[in-house]
Amino acid sequence: MYHHVKKLMYTVRVGQADPRFGNMLLEQFGGANGELAAAMQYSIQGLNCENAACKDLLMDIGTEELSHLEIVGTLARMHLKPMKKSVDAAECDPLVAIAGGGGVALCNSMGNPWTADYLKITGELDVDLRSNVAAEARAKIVYERLINFCDDAGTKEALQFLMTREVTHMRAFMQALDYLDKPELSIGAIPPTPGIVDQYYNDSTGIGDEGESDMKAPWNEAEGIQVVTAPAFQEFQVLKATPKAAKTTLDTLNGDRGKNGKNKARSASPAGRE
Ligand code: MN
Ligand code: MN
Repeated sequence: MYHHVKKLMYTVRVGQADPRFGNMLLEQFGGANGELAAAMQYSIQGLNCENAACKDLLMDIGTEELSHLEIVGTLARMHLKPMKKSVDAAECDPLVAIAGGGGVALCNSMGNPWTADYLKITGELDVDLRSNVAAEARAKIVYERLINFCDDAGTKEALQFLMTREVTHMRAFMQALDYLDKPELSIGAIPPTPGIVDQYYNDSTGIGDEGESDMKAPWNEAEGIQVVTAPAFQEFQVLKATPKAAKTTLDTLNGDRGKNGKNKARSASPAGRE
C-alpha cells in the first residue's frame, strides 16, 4: 500500500535556477541509474522475494527511492521552470521547453524515455542483491558528478543528501548478501566445472603502442589459478566441459596434468564451496 505525504524527505531550496543543470538532473529522474529505476528495481524484486528479511529491506529501500524521485523531480522542476518563458533557457533542452513546458517527464538528460529495460530483476535473490550493490555505486557516482557541475548551494546540499543515502543502501545490500551466508562464488544450483573454472585465459598479449604489457595480479597469479597463454595461438580447445569428464587440450599442449591446486582465498571450484 502506498500513501503520499505532502512533505519532501529533504526540503529543497534553490537559489538560482539553472536550466542547463536542470537538464543534467533529469539523468537521476528518468535515466538508467536514476531514482525511478532504483525504486522499481527494488520494489519489484521485493514482490518476488521469498526471504522475509530481504523482502522487508527491498520494500524499505524501494519506497525510499520513490521519495528520492520526488526530491529530484522537485529540484529538476525548479531548475527547468524558466524554460517555459525564456528562449535562452529553452535552448538548454528544447524537448522539455517545447513539449514539456519546462516541466519534468520521465526522460533522461538526452530526452530518451524511461524504460523497464533499465531494470535488473532475475528472481534469484543473491544475484539481484549484487545488481543492487552495483546500481547504488552507479547512482552514487552520478550524484557526485552532478555535485561537481553544480554552483547552487541549496541544490548541492540536496544532492549531498541523496548521494549519501546511496552509500547507505549499498552497504545494506552488501550486508544482505552476507546475511544470506552463501559462498561468494556460488551462484544458482549447478556448480561450475572444476579445472576449467580456475583457468585464466591470457587472451590479450604483446606490447601495445603505449608500452602496455601483460600484468601480474591476483586473477592470474593467485594460488590455484592456471594461466593459459594466448589460447588461440596454441590451438587451445575445451574438449569436454561436463564436471566429471572435463578435458581441455592444455594437458597435451603443456605436457602437464592440468590439475589445479586450490585457490584458498577464493576457490570457484565446487571442491572449495563447502
Ligand atoms: Mn536514491
Ligand atoms: Mn539507493
